Formats: sequence, C-alpha cells, structure tokens
Amino acid sequence: MFYQEVLCFSCKKIFRVYEGSLQYKQAKERKSSFFCCEDCSHKIRIEAILNFFR
Ligand SMILES: [Zn+2]
Repeated sequence: MFYQEVLCFSCKKIFRVYEGSLQYKQAKERKSSFFCCEDCSHKIRIEAILNFFR
C-alpha cells in the first residue's frame, strides 16, 4: 500500500496518510501544507461540537 508521510500541524508528529484518502491526494499534489493526524482531527471534531453547545 502506498502512503505519504506528513506532519500534523497540531501535535507536530509525523503520520502516514494512505493511498485513496483525501489527505494522501493533497500530500501528493502538494495542495495543502496543513495536515492533521487522526487523533487530532478527532479532538478538533469533539472541541468543535463542544463549542457548538457552549
Ligand atoms: Zn496530531
């Protein structure tokens, strides 16, 4: 399976994005320089939901 290694802008950890995912495509085409690992995207999603109800 093909993957790209990208840096998470939130926790500054290198993580892998696998072929077929949107982030992989963005990494390959260098369209986006900001990537977010699964842990952080999960946290961000929860925070967004919490902010919504605040
Ligand atoms: Zn992260």
